[in-house]
Amino acid sequence: MTLSLICPTKDPAPWLKAINALAPEIDLRVWPDDGNKADVTFALVWAQPQGIFSQYPNLQVISSMGAGVDNLLQDRSIPPQATVVRMVDPRLVRQMGDYVLAAVLNHVRQLSDYGQFQQQRQWRPLPPRNLDQVTIGVMGMGQIGHAVATRLSQLGCRVLGWSRREKNIADVQVFAGQQQQPNFLAASEILVCLLPLTAETENILNIETLSQLPQGGYLINVARGHHLVEEDLLSLLDNNYLAGACLDVFRQEPLPQEHPFWTHPKITITPHIASLTDPVSVAPQIVENYRRMESGESLLNQVDIRQGY
Ligand code: NDP
Repeated sequence: MTLSLICPTKDPAPWLKAINALAPEIDLRVWPDDGNKADVTFALVWAQPQGIFSQYPNLQVISSMGAGVDNLLQDRSIPPQATVVRMVDPRLVRQMGDYVLAAVLNHVRQLSDYGQFQQQRQWRPLPPRNLDQVTIGVMGMGQIGHAVATRLSQLGCRVLGWSRREKNIADVQVFAGQQQQPNFLAASEILVCLLPLTAETENILNIETLSQLPQGGYLINVARGHHLVEEDLLSLLDNNYLAGACLDVFRQEPLPQEHPFWTHPKITITPHIASLTDPVSVAPQIVENYRRMESGESLLNQVDIRQGY
């Protein structure tokens, strides 16, 4: 049994070091020089070349190196016998909470506006707003969305959540499904997208949904670029319906040089850094799943391939 890292866009060195430090007995290899593909039973992957899995006849586990599995699940070569798992990591969750909190505070305390006033040497106080005066709607009440919503609520914000199934979360009013989406959107002055990208959620941030936010609403998209119809956001910003947006993810990454988001005065962008997987932090769950595979036990953090997350 062998574990192969298939991650053409990531440096495998820190991953090898972190896994090896915990389990030196695991035979670790790195694609494309991973020897006899028939030895590989566990693939640890990120941005794998599409179709690659058909080269591995004995794959039992495919583990995403991150929380999202949208790119991985597009691969038609995932063998039917393989179990797909992903990272669920408190450190990743915490980092996302920090990012969303920073974006919320930046908007509520108008720091971007003051940055623009400073460029123009303008001393211009705006009417102040506090965290306890805003209602934040979090789309996606999974591992990350749940924790982010709870943290914002503990800081005094009114927080609403939206998920596929109904949930009971202390101090967060959770709406469920298509039917309850309009009430959720109508009350969300700041909308945070933390949904997985699936056939159902692609393009979910569009003119129809975003124009149900209260006028002056603000969007924070930290999930995937393909959730957002970019032209729809631009039109709602340019006609002054929405106040602004903070975007960490884009339909095309890196964001092309000529893209209008770069220079838009109401948009803050970051280069897909809201929350990054730390190999040292997730190595224990990789090793645990490898051992479970060896002993035939049920794996941690399994993905429902049919649902897409
Ligand atoms: P989870 O799988 O734990 O949670 C997904 C949530 O979305 C669940 O609450 C689920 O509902 C809900 N959901 C899924 N489909 C729908 C739908 N059609 N309608 C309503 N709700 C739906 O995911 P995580 O919290 O771990 O991660 C969320 C996403 O965050 C990842 O998929 C990834 O794309 C993104 N991400 C971005 C990062 C960045 O740096 N920008 C870093 C890490 C993650 P239910 O609970 O009812 O099943």
